[in-house]
Amino acid sequence: MQFSEDDGDVAGDLLLDNVEIFDGRDNLGRGYVLIDRGEIASVGRGPFPKHYYKSRKIPERVDGEGLFTLPGFIDSHLHLFALAAHMVGHDLSCLGEINQTTFEAVLRQTKENCSVKNGWYRFYGLDSFQTALSGCLNRSFLDDIFPTDPVIVRFRSGHGALLNSVALSAIGVGETTDEPNGVTFARNIENGQLTGVILEGEELFSSQIPQTPIPDILQSLSPILEDLPSKGITTIVDASFNNDISKMEILGEFLDANLFGPDVILMPGVNHFRDFYKELGKYSDVHRGINIGHVKIMLTASGGRIMPDELGLSSAIEEAHLLGFPVAIHAVEKESVALAISALKNNFMEGDRIEHASELTDENIMDIVGLGIRICSQPSFITDNGGRYLRDIEDTSLLYRFESLRVKGATVSFSSDAPFSRANPMEWISAAVSRKIGRSGEVLQPAEKIPVDAALNMATLSSAVVSGMSSRKGCLYPGMDADIILLDANPFKVTLEELPTISPVLTLRRGVKTYSQV
Ligand SMILES: [Zn+2]
Repeated sequence: MQFSEDDGDVAGDLLLDNVEIFDGRDNLGRGYVLIDRGEIASVGRGPFPKHYYKSRKIPERVDGEGLFTLPGFIDSHLHLFALAAHMVGHDLSCLGEINQTTFEAVLRQTKENCSVKNGWYRFYGLDSFQTALSGCLNRSFLDDIFPTDPVIVRFRSGHGALLNSVALSAIGVGETTDEPNGVTFARNIENGQLTGVILEGEELFSSQIPQTPIPDILQSLSPILEDLPSKGITTIVDASFNNDISKMEILGEFLDANLFGPDVILMPGVNHFRDFYKELGKYSDVHRGINIGHVKIMLTASGGRIMPDELGLSSAIEEAHLLGFPVAIHAVEKESVALAISALKNNFMEGDRIEHASELTDENIMDIVGLGIRICSQPSFITDNGGRYLRDIEDTSLLYRFESLRVKGATVSFSSDAPFSRANPMEWISAAVSRKIGRSGEVLQPAEKIPVDAALNMATLSSAVVSGMSSRKGCLYPGMDADIILLDANPFKVTLEELPTISPVLTLRRGVKTYSQV
């Protein structure tokens, strides 16, 4: 993909001129991008041809001196409703270093200052892996503070929660209750009693805990969607397992009134894609402005078993493929990834992707490249969780193998998995380039660092490919959607420390300015 020779026969309404360009794949040097009616009309090296002005209306011109332009970032995996619910509940993710005393203080403060909402206290984002918290991840700790109101504290990992005794009985879980398939009720080693920690219980929670009212959720969605363009994000993919028709309708209605957010792709959950097919449309159709995406399948390792098993997984894949949907399989650890690959070997459709694939062996990578499975990853987890990986994971050489995947020719996209990390692409890019863990300065597997151009590609063009949008998005080429950002510095010319601080000064989504500081 290279640029068009400008033939002087294009109209335009916005010209980014005299600017350094990365087109999604290559660094093109200084040139211009002309935008017309929401699409890219022309991209060229060197100065914008002067003869253009003689015959055409003069477009608005932005001088890109000192700036850098590239395709809009695509967050290829996040969870909008969870992100919004986070904002409605009490967020614990910003607490950083937390121990029993600070945790207790926050809970008591919340109880004192905030009334209970819809009958429940809801906390989000607790880093349950912090060793300083190990003494208080039990219901008696919560019962002391909240003896009468039900409380749920969701973990940052997205895979578990701590409930107090009132909450356990409210959702019908007692000492003799059977665990639903795939769910684990943690028990005290000494006396076998329930600790209040439930792993992989989201389906159970959503059926038993009163939902946060939709108007509350929507109210907190507005600032979230408005913030994304300021980070240079022009397209997002909602990859929530429980996405159903009602979520699609609510979001569609909401987006009608929110003109400055990113474009949205919504993945139907594995239990709901048949309804989508019957009532709304098939894969890649657009309903109320939202693209219908891959079928989301969860593989979870809980209680030592992976759910669903290979048979269950294969039949879900088969049915999705029969209706024309590629699948997006959530698989984090090497056992789950191996199961996902093995099922896809038997039934593969172009577009099939694996979410996370955080641990990969050489053999996995060969299979991924051989079959053409696409990978959706979250580099910020290196920054956020790298310390824990070094402490707890046996073989850290399997983690986040961006360079190995790149060298072998795999298609890898970047994403936030928000609310589990931040929707901030320059953070992802610098995490993938530096592989630095938090503020420690330690580096996780330096051999898997990737160059800046590869990281920019994974956040733009590759993300478009993995999200099934590459015919319209992800590169600066005539005829593509004018999803374009201008950054305040050239990522190729700054230090590693400066890389995450680069910010957009202009974000265009289909030619509309969704964020502007110029
Ligand atoms: Zn996710």
